[in-house]
Order: sequence, then C-alpha cells, then structure tokens
Amino acid sequence: MKDLTHDLADRLTRYCAIDSQSDADSPSSPSTAIQLDMQRLLVAELTAMGAEDVTLTEYGAVLATIPGTREGPTVGFLAHVDTAPQFNATGVKPRIIRGYNGGAITYPDDPGLSLTPEAFPYLAEKLGHDIVTASGLTLLGADDKAGVAILMTAAERLLADPSLPRPRLRLAFTPDEEIGRGVDARLPQDLGADFAYTFDGGKLGEIEYETFSADGAVVTIKGVSIHPGYATGKLVNAIHLAAKIIQTLPQVTLTPETTEGREGFIHATDMDGGSSEMRIKFILRDFEREGLEEKGALLRQVCAAVAATEPRAEITCTITPQYRNMRYWLDSDMTPVELARDSARALGLDPVSVPIRGGTDGSRLTEMGIPCPNLFTGMQNIHGPLEWISVQDMEVAMRLCLEIAGRAAKG
Ligand SMILES: [Zn+2]
Repeated sequence: MKDLTHDLADRLTRYCAIDSQSDADSPSSPSTAIQLDMQRLLVAELTAMGAEDVTLTEYGAVLATIPGTREGPTVGFLAHVDTAPQFNATGVKPRIIRGYNGGAITYPDDPGLSLTPEAFPYLAEKLGHDIVTASGLTLLGADDKAGVAILMTAAERLLADPSLPRPRLRLAFTPDEEIGRGVDARLPQDLGADFAYTFDGGKLGEIEYETFSADGAVVTIKGVSIHPGYATGKLVNAIHLAAKIIQTLPQVTLTPETTEGREGFIHATDMDGGSSEMRIKFILRDFEREGLEEKGALLRQVCAAVAATEPRAEITCTITPQYRNMRYWLDSDMTPVELARDSARALGLDPVSVPIRGGTDGSRLTEMGIPCPNLFTGMQNIHGPLEWISVQDMEVAMRLCLEIAGRAAKG
C-alpha cells in the first residue's frame, strides 16, 4: 500500500477546500445547496473507481456498493460531508505540515493563533507525522472530511484489489449531520446494511457505542400587549416571565458548563421575541431515559410555577425527541462493537470506549434498526480554527476499515 498517506492527504485537503457547511435555520433538505458540490464530486469519483449502485438520493446522501468477494453480513460505512455551522467554513485553506517537529504551530492568516503540544498533549504524540490544519480564519472541516477521505481511499483500494476479502459493503455519505438531520427516514432501507460504522470519532483507538439521549424543548410565553401609556394593571410583559424561567432553572448544576462524564444537562440555546411574546429553546441531554425524562419534567415544573405567578399569561412547553443512546440497542448484541475492537487489536491498537456527550448519525441509525458504532479518524479540536489531524492517524483508521471488512467476511 504505497503512497497511502499521499492519497489520504490529497483527498482530505481537496475535500476540506470545498465549503459544505450545513445550516440549522434552513428548512430545505439538504439544508444547503453547497453540500451537493461535495456530493457530486463523490459521485464522480466513486463512479470512476468502479463502485456499483452509485446514487445521489433525493435527501442529498450519496450511496454506493463495493461488491463482496466472500459471504457475510452486509456492512455499512458512513461519513458526513457537512461541516459545523458554529465557525467560519468559507475559504478553507488546508495546509500540510510534514514531519511535525514537536514545536508550536502558527497560522499564516492569524498571527495571534498558536497550536501547542503543551495545550493539546495529543499533538505531542504525533512527532514526525504529517499534520493538516487550516490557515487561521476558518475551521478545517476534518470533521468529517477525514471520514470521507478515509472511506474513499479504502473504497479505491478494495475496488482495485479483488483479493482483499470482504462481504458486500455499502457506503453512505450523509449531509446535515452537524444539525442533527443526517439520517433521513429512508436511509436505513436505502443503505440496506446488517450493521454499520460511522468514521466520525477522534483519537486513535476510540470505538464509541454510547451517545447522549436527546430531546429538544421550546417554551413559548404569551403576555398581554397594551400601549405602555395605558398599561397600568393590564400589561403582562413576556420578557419578564422569560427571565423568571431562566432564573428559576438550575444554573450551578445541570448545565453543560457545570457537568461532565455521565451527567446530563438542560441547556438554553436560544431566546427571541418581545414584550408580547417570547420563545426560549432548550436542549435536554442525559445518557439514561429516566434522567432525560426527569430533565423534561423539571423544565415543565418551572414553566408551570412561573405560569402560576401570572394567570393572564400563557406559557407552553413542547418537548420533542431528537435521538437516543445507541447503547440501549447495542447492549443486546455487541457483535459490531466486538468486531471493531478485535480489528483494532489486530492493528496493535488498544481500543477505548468513552460515552460521547453528543450524538452521531449512528445514534438515529441504531434506533432505526441498523446498529452503528462510531470509529476514530484522528480529528482534533473540531468546530474551530485550531482543528487539526494527523495523516498517519487517518491511515490507521483506513486500515481499520479494511480490517473490519476482512474480518466480517466468512471463509
Ligand atoms: Zn462529525
């Protein structure tokens, strides 16, 4: 496998330079048309390398088949093509620092910025590696262009070499993962895999099968609107009631900034409106169903308590399920996790499983019937200007993909 790092670095830097940011405020699917620029490129590249059933679906996912050379379960591999909306993703200029020397990495477009092994100890482990970063003004987008590059490189190797054992493999490149809309209702059926993996994780060796369980909540507060000149005894200001709700909710516990590990939280993400009507958005997170229900109950309780202080106002709290911890399903059949762990050990890695304080496309996919743990790519400091990745870490992730495919094949 000569030139593997060259191929991976080439794909990563080409894909990262394409702006494919998603947008949570857009109602369309995919949320942004620019994601289709990435998807059309993947369709062309997959077709050129001889993949079968290459499809760009109505909902913006690219699917393809790598025919099997052995019997075995159909295994799916997924990566997402969108980048995070939280930071500038326009005009990404990826660059490769070859043979990293262990020092501070500076940025051409922002001299104030510096990536140091002191602040990020994982970087200290990558001495001699080829490190890819952006130029200082944007995120890199290794999340999840690294996953895309890893799968595309693996696909090319497999398609060029029928002697590499594998069962039938299905690839999926999804849009809108970062805004929680990566798994369309049609995807499980269209993917048609017995189990699958996302390549969307961080450090070498990480094999994740626990995510948060997640609900969203919207609290609407309708006050009574009157001209302030005639308001005496009549006006009910929705802003004051919104402030009361925020003030009554826990602030030194149960928030993202005061919890860690397996603790859940209630997070106010957005508030808008005016004196006549206010809207507050929350996300609720916990690893356990009961814990998530408790957080929803607490939010409702606070809303009811504030409503009781002002009967003329109307306060509603609507809670909507988002995704569930994939462990609830994987607990009953750990085969996909064990296959990934055995494959990692065969490559000399020490597999580690840490609960993800977030969700993946795999959370929804698992819930919808396709067990789907998450595997490392090497990506670090995602969603910001200090995002970086080692090309050699990506190479190990790509070998893990081939190893899983090989071990899933029977005979
Ligand atoms: Zn990601």
